[in-house]
Amino acid sequence: MHSIWEAEQFHARPDLVVIGGGIVGLFTALFHKRKHPGHRVLVVERGAFPSGASVKNAGFACFGSPSELLADLDKEGAEAMLARVEERWRGLLELRSELGDTAIGFEATGGHEIYPTHTDVYTEVADRFNALNDTLRPIFGEQVFRWDDRAIARFGLAGVGHLVRTDLEGPLDTGKLMFSLVRKVIAEGIVFRPRTRVVSLMESPSSVTLRMEDGLEMDTAMVAVCTNGYAHELLPDLPVEPARGQVLKTSPIPGLRIRGTFHYDEGFYYFRDHQGGVLLGGGRNLDIVGETTAEEGTTVRIQDALEELLRTLIIPGQPFNIERRWSGIMGMGPSKSPIIERRSERVVVAVGLGGMGVAIGIRVARRASALVDQ
Ligand SMILES: Cc1cc2nc3c(=O)[nH]c(=O)nc-3n(C[C@H](O)[C@H](O)[C@H](O)COP(=O)(O)OP(=O)(O)OC[C@H]3O[C@@H](n4cnc5c(N)ncnc54)[C@H](O)[C@@H]3O)c2cc1C
Repeated sequence: MHSIWEAEQFHARPDLVVIGGGIVGLFTALFHKRKHPGHRVLVVERGAFPSGASVKNAGFACFGSPSELLADLDKEGAEAMLARVEERWRGLLELRSELGDTAIGFEATGGHEIYPTHTDVYTEVADRFNALNDTLRPIFGEQVFRWDDRAIARFGLAGVGHLVRTDLEGPLDTGKLMFSLVRKVIAEGIVFRPRTRVVSLMESPSSVTLRMEDGLEMDTAMVAVCTNGYAHELLPDLPVEPARGQVLKTSPIPGLRIRGTFHYDEGFYYFRDHQGGVLLGGGRNLDIVGETTAEEGTTVRIQDALEELLRTLIIPGQPFNIERRWSGIMGMGPSKSPIIERRSERVVVAVGLGGMGVAIGIRVARRASALVDQ
């Protein structure tokens, strides 16, 4: 039986429980608490720390490469493409202003898309380059992309014919970002409860009862489900599929020449510098069925393809040592936009962020916290 002290301070009914301590869950809790300082807000996270895509990603602070944006333009029209780019751009600005560039390790070293000579993708981008910049100008107030083929030699890349650069993107330090976000959430009076996996939700007219893996139950007034790629485990009818992304990181490479973030092969591969080594991810397209999983792990096939790219394109002729390999789980919904909705009287969901959660996470959370209030 709980003492009066435990009952009043630690086990009082929360006003809001956020399930999932990733970038979306943590910001959702933060925005709710700021609007309602008297509310008891809890973030429950199944890992000992945040343990989803928010701590596994590549740390690209980016809003979309030319080939991606042109493909979106063709598929969805200018309005939808521009709206998405604006969300990403505003999200990055808000994230940097909320936590600070130093705290998130943002480096303004630029974002790049590279193309082998004479590919269809290059021809398409080259043909429509000026029109794309014109279309994007109202969002950024300046020309976003420029050709910089001379940088190919400076970066030491092989087999690359053309390079587009934007000064407005760059890498950040995902670990620092999440560490400072957790610290901020706790400092602002939110309870972060790790090692707490929710296995079911039961809603009644007056509350939601959460059942944990250890059999304990907790009643709360409102719930925000921010479990992204794991969403189907709690809410199986949500149309979000898990999508694994694999990454590797080399040891420091003497004289490494790449700086900034790079997209290659229509975004199927991405790489950047980090602490003197190369961080490289992608290759999901090699085994879409096998990588549609919420199980973490790496496969020889994809890791070999990543290593081949290191050898042939990124650091040709340079010996390297892989110091770490890992994977993370993204959440993919039916469209490229996340699912942010009120599922019922007391349950809000904000899931399915795809591969752009660093950019849009804070804005998704703002919308989720607004829905909690409605
Ligand atoms: C390999 C990789 C590279 C990426 N690179 C980039 C990039 O460079 N730039 C970019 O913008 N985006 C990138 N992304 C995408 C980005 O990381 C995600 O979109 C973003 O982190 C999603 O945040 P989230 O809070 O929605 O989900 P998550 O960070 O996945 O958070 C969900 C949390 O819920 C917890 N959880 C799940 N189920 C339960 C439960 N039942 N009970 C309690 N807790 C639970 C999980 O442990 C997890 O911590 C990448 C993703 C991956 C996997």
